[in-house]
Amino acid sequence: MVVGDIATGTDVLVIGAGPGGYVAAIRAGQLDLDVTLVEKDAYGGSCLNHGCIPSKAMITAADVAHEAGNAEEMGVHADPAVDLAKMVEWKDGVVDQLTSGVEKLNKANGVNLIEGRAEFADENSVRVAHGGEGQGSETVEFEHAIIATGSRPIEIPGFSYEDEPVLSSRDALALDSLPDSMVVVGAGYIGMELSTVFAKLGTDVTVVEMLDDVLPGYEDDVKRIVRDRAESLGIDFHFGRTASGWEEVDDGIRVSTETVDEEAAAEADGGAAETFDADKVLVAVGRQPVTDTLNLEAAGIEPNDDGFIETDDRARTEQDHIFAVGDVAGEPMLAHKGSKEGEVAAEVIAGEPAALDYQAVPAAVFTDPEVGTVGLTEAEAEDAGFTPVVGQFPFRASGRALTTGEDEGFVRVVADEDSGFILGAQVVGPEASELIAEFGLAIEMGATLEDVASTVHTHPTLAEGVMEACANALGHAIHALNR
Ligand SMILES: Cc1cc2nc3c(=O)[nH]c(=O)nc-3n(C[C@H](O)[C@H](O)[C@H](O)COP(=O)(O)OP(=O)(O)OC[C@H]3O[C@@H](n4cnc5c(N)ncnc54)[C@H](O)[C@@H]3O)c2cc1C
Repeated sequence: MVVGDIATGTDVLVIGAGPGGYVAAIRAGQLDLDVTLVEKDAYGGSCLNHGCIPSKAMITAADVAHEAGNAEEMGVHADPAVDLAKMVEWKDGVVDQLTSGVEKLNKANGVNLIEGRAEFADENSVRVAHGGEGQGSETVEFEHAIIATGSRPIEIPGFSYEDEPVLSSRDALALDSLPDSMVVVGAGYIGMELSTVFAKLGTDVTVVEMLDDVLPGYEDDVKRIVRDRAESLGIDFHFGRTASGWEEVDDGIRVSTETVDEEAAAEADGGAAETFDADKVLVAVGRQPVTDTLNLEAAGIEPNDDGFIETDDRARTEQDHIFAVGDVAGEPMLAHKGSKEGEVAAEVIAGEPAALDYQAVPAAVFTDPEVGTVGLTEAEAEDAGFTPVVGQFPFRASGRALTTGEDEGFVRVVADEDSGFILGAQVVGPEASELIAEFGLAIEMGATLEDVASTVHTHPTLAEGVMEACANALGHAIHALNR
């Protein structure tokens, strides 16, 4: 122990108060464990402070502005003016309400909160350095630890987040004035969500993506609908290009890019370079786990080559008494996956027979239109040895979708032909992020196509599309032609 340290002890030490860590701490508190939560920055982690919540707040605000200005067909004439500083202030208010809620919930569940940065001293203790000069430090001894230190945005060569025109997703969500133009590097879900926000608010957006389409990992017909809509909002895509650097020019910056196609590069006149001028460049190329600042070696834990901590189906690391949850424990790097792992870790520590089951972890992309997926695609079902049967229902056949003015997209269900068990679903269209929850429940409950198709759904709702897609797979959808 360092001279001057105060030493304390706890049953369960949780490092990081994001959706993985704070949920683990609350669950451990509910289970009457003595629990200490250490956070170096703000309660709620990336999700509440710089990720899920602020991005969704900005998406909603941008939608309101865009819809109000584009509702002539519905007889609404409006020319909305955007005050970005006020919008960001409103978003910050939402964030504050939630983060203070997290702090209160932890306290109410008996969690001991420590503000500071933790790093392992050995296999059973951490040193916590309190923020600021002269604030001192303390040593906390633990029986069990849960590592939930999350992730940070990946930086690419030539684009340092220290430079003012270069934005991370966090910076982009805190801008106080709207850039006239922006280059977005990366067309994954974060790049696409933020491109849509800025395009709807009036920024001229150019997206540079290394791969040949948006949203890697999603099916082609899902991507096409999202890409077409983004293009119709004025977003200019350049696929098969990487961003290599930027320089200041007279009235902004110039971003240089290279093609990844070597053949095209060899043939191109003047090489494969192309430049794009803008006010800002947003880099959204993915996130990396925060495992390098924890002195994991002292705990006897070695992250894998990508920096993630490997765990078993009970969130346990190679050290039986140390658990890892959330983004540090690997893909999918999503808040709800981290929270579930946090609950499981706490329950395992309390001696409950909890284990993780990833078969029904949904994912949502809050683009326009939204995307929601869960379980297996048709191709994945085939690869897994099933004989899949697929049912689909287009939103243009949904009365509710037409009344919202959003009728692009579809609900698709994938089931096992022999048993009728639902294996997965893909939804692209209005409220896809909400609708996918119905399929998540169906998979978790072991529901069949018949179960969902015969459930009476409220009319007129988008959820009727879920029922109709299942009926379509059975050959008897009412409001769509059956194949
Ligand atoms: C723009 C954006 C949008 C997103 N949208 C969504 C979405 O819509 N849905 C979704 O599911 N996910 C979304 N995500 C991902 C989501 O934010 C993460 O998956 C989630 O926050 C991971 O939770 P976590 O608890 O593992 O880590 P984090 O939320 O990153 O929290 C980790 C915490 O640990 C603290 N910490 C780190 N090191 C230490 C240390 N040594 N000592 C003490 N404290 C430490 C950090 O300060 C932080 O508060 C989004 C992310 C971004 C960036």
